[in-house]
Amino acid sequence: MSMQCRKCGGEILKRKYFSRTPKNEGLCRKCINHAIATKHEQIHSITYTTWACMLKRVKDPNKPYLSKGITVCERWQDFRNFLQDMGERPSRLHSIDRKDNNGNYEPMNCRWATKQQQASNTSRNVFLIAFGETKTASEWTRDARCRVGITTFTRRMQSGWTPEAIITKPSRIRAKCETTDAE
Ligand SMILES: [Zn+2]
Repeated sequence: MSMQCRKCGGEILKRKYFSRTPKNEGLCRKCINHAIATKHEQIHSITYTTWACMLKRVKDPNKPYLSKGITVCERWQDFRNFLQDMGERPSRLHSIDRKDNNGNYEPMNCRWATKQQQASNTSRNVFLIAFGETKTASEWTRDARCRVGITTFTRRMQSGWTPEAIITKPSRIRAKCETTDAE
């Protein structure tokens, strides 16, 4: 039985050339290969662009990286090494997140993260003054006076709670049937 490829009109001679992926259904092997290659190229190119922008960013006198002494490590001057360490950028919503905001672009300090994850990470490194003491959010959650974990802590910070309330107010135990996070 022979059928026609819905894209190029070419003949699909063998049944096995049909893909089980709905997107590729009715395509000939050649068109499927082309689709896969194009998709890979797209992903690859956003990772490459991200890498190139990172290199440019740290050398830009209008950005704070130069003055803070933040650089891209020797190893990551080569795109192949960067790709090997970080993998492809998972999506356009992801960007390079430095765990330590004052640290360099290097394997130990970087990961792909969404804006939301990054905001949370930034909050963790933000200083909070309470009881006359200055500590980062991470440090506060390890303080004996602190009643909540880092997730609740950073959420409260972002919601504008007073420092003492963030630290000392116990986390509400959620009722079984509660559907909204009213905390
Ligand atoms: Zn085709």
